Amino acid sequence: MHLRILTPHPGILAFYDGRVPGYRFAERDNWVDDGALSLGIASYALILGDEALVYDTGTTLAHGHAIRTHLESIGIRHLRVILSHWHRDHIAGTEAFADTEIIASAQTAAHLVAQRANLESDTRWPPIRPLVAPTTTYKGHLTLALGPTRVALIHVNIHSDDATVLWLPDARILLAGDTVEDTVTYVAEPDHLATHLTDLARLKALFPRHILPCHGDPDVIASGGYGPGLIEATLRYVTHLTSRTDTPLQDLLAADLAAGNLTWFAPYLEIHRLNLARVRADAR
Ligand SMILES: [Zn+2]
Repeated sequence: MHLRILTPHPGILAFYDGRVPGYRFAERDNWVDDGALSLGIASYALILGDEALVYDTGTTLAHGHAIRTHLESIGIRHLRVILSHWHRDHIAGTEAFADTEIIASAQTAAHLVAQRANLESDTRWPPIRPLVAPTTTYKGHLTLALGPTRVALIHVNIHSDDATVLWLPDARILLAGDTVEDTVTYVAEPDHLATHLTDLARLKALFPRHILPCHGDPDVIASGGYGPGLIEATLRYVTHLTSRTDTPLQDLLAADLAAGNLTWFAPYLEIHRLNLARVRADAR
């Protein structure tokens, strides 16, 4: 594990792992390297006094335990967990929080129940076993309080149809899960791209000042996150994908890279290739 603990804003911790040259979680094919650590991935915690809201539980159970151990070492006694969506790399550490409240959208809970046998099996290694299910679900919106801080959970259909983003209206900070990603979004559900555009526009209309994605550049995250240009760049990229034309990725993103909305990370060339293939297969 190469876990780095970053502080993008006072009261917000990022638990970041991945993008470590030469390091692999395992030699064999596995989703921990291929989906998560190769691109870099963060879980977050909002902390106030002895209370924390944990947003995603880590890419392995060891990550989950490390996040919890750190939080307890700084005096956190009351933990609640929020899951950004049901994908493996965001929920693999949930067993470390099995005695706490685990909050997710109703759609996330439904996916986890439906996928339990798949997630717990060795079909895609390593398994997540036992899978710990959410204890609290919501539909649409849910507002939580962390001391005087309002934390809004908003369900959106971007990247996956069950996504929960966290919106801190007072600080105008958006914890975005996988709804936006630097260098490009990961298209897991190509048949929903039109809805993704609609819901990205909803996120843009919140007018966030700082955006913290789960997959992004650790230096940008450490220095407070991305600006609203990350949502605009994602809107442009998804719109381009739906046109299914072939433009080299660096050319396609040139203006957003120059503007600092995105940073270049070469492994996303492969994500873009997969995105194009999925969009084309879906159109047939
Ligand atoms: Zn995901």
